[in-house]
Amino acid sequence: MQAVLHNKRLKTIDRRHPWVFSRAIRRFTGNPKAGDLVTLISEDDRFLARGLWNPKSAIRLRVLTWDDEPIDDAFWARRLRKAIDRRQLNPNTAKRLIHAENDYLPGLIVDQYGDFLVLQALAVGIDERKHQIASLLDELLQPEGIYERSDSDARQREGLEPSVGVLRGKAPPQKIKITENLDHQFWVNVYNGHKTGFYLDQAENRLLLADVMSEGARVLNTFAYTGGFSVYAYAAGAEAVYSVDSSESALNLAEENLALNGFDDTPLLAGDVFDVMRDYRELGETFDVIILDPPKFASSQKQVNMALRGYKDINLMAFQLLNPGGLLMTYSCSGNVSADLFRKVVFGALEDSGREAQILRQLHAPSDHPIALTFPEGEYLKGLLCQVD
Ligand code: SAH
Repeated sequence: MQAVLHNKRLKTIDRRHPWVFSRAIRRFTGNPKAGDLVTLISEDDRFLARGLWNPKSAIRLRVLTWDDEPIDDAFWARRLRKAIDRRQLNPNTAKRLIHAENDYLPGLIVDQYGDFLVLQALAVGIDERKHQIASLLDELLQPEGIYERSDSDARQREGLEPSVGVLRGKAPPQKIKITENLDHQFWVNVYNGHKTGFYLDQAENRLLLADVMSEGARVLNTFAYTGGFSVYAYAAGAEAVYSVDSSESALNLAEENLALNGFDDTPLLAGDVFDVMRDYRELGETFDVIILDPPKFASSQKQVNMALRGYKDINLMAFQLLNPGGLLMTYSCSGNVSADLFRKVVFGALEDSGREAQILRQLHAPSDHPIALTFPEGEYLKGLLCQVD
């Protein structure tokens, strides 16, 4: 089956962006169905690319290759192996093995948690091939089991229902123990945890926090989830770490994770971060370190303005709550908010606080979450480490 690309869209192909939108397709032959392999050709009949078709999505074709090659088991195995090989130096027992478009496997996420893999199929073409992919992963890595967590909102845009369950091998235990950066341990619930269970994308930044903070610090870890940054802050000698999250179940696991690393009786606050920070401000509480790692405030372009207000509010309160010399680690994981825009919002918050600050580091996801240069959408997580005067 073939689709013909509009002549004026040839640039997308030159740039090797992996998404071909519906408006870029002039016509197609045959009757390609969701998930079918389709060859993209130019108006003058030249081969351009081959990919997976979805008539229900604005992303009509997700390109797998720009070479005229067969998409068979050998192709998938080559792509999977390449991505997996690139993670070989990563010592963590939990890591992202396949980062979708950024690893040239559009719509496929695979995370490793110890002896188990968790797979997320975010596009219909991948969804249809998930058993084939699971079987190849089995051959490559021999995990104890491969569990599917395809319940992300992104599936709706592809016309897909959520799908979860064991794909191969054994069902994972209720909690899997992982080791991050050599000596930090965590329990991960791959059944109900966010994403595939854990925020693997903050692994390096958690280590950085431990490196830059001073012993005896009072730390406020907002949007704490299962205590990732809290564990590192205690390990780095914090006097107290206040972990705030609206999810009781996340905080229960945070408590277990803190205990697993030898930290008991730590303050855990179930509540809305906006309210908690406002209360702290009224009470005149102050902190030496504040971590702001909120969920995605903008899921679409329409939500960007509202998201920016949210980012500004929490960053303003953080600047107001910091002791002199205090550190702010602040993030946005909204793909629709660029690093530049995020920085402007943090600057606006600083201005309103009347304080001065320096950026010590610009923060990103670690190297197991690469960004394909051809795919700027891959840069979703951005952050700043600031120090106030
Ligand atoms: N920093 C964490 C990940 C944070 S994910 C880590 O390293 O693991 C975002 C978290 O924010 C989720 O746990 C979610 O439950 C929580 N959350 C979302 N909105 C919130 C709000 N308004 N107040 C408090 N917590 C919120």
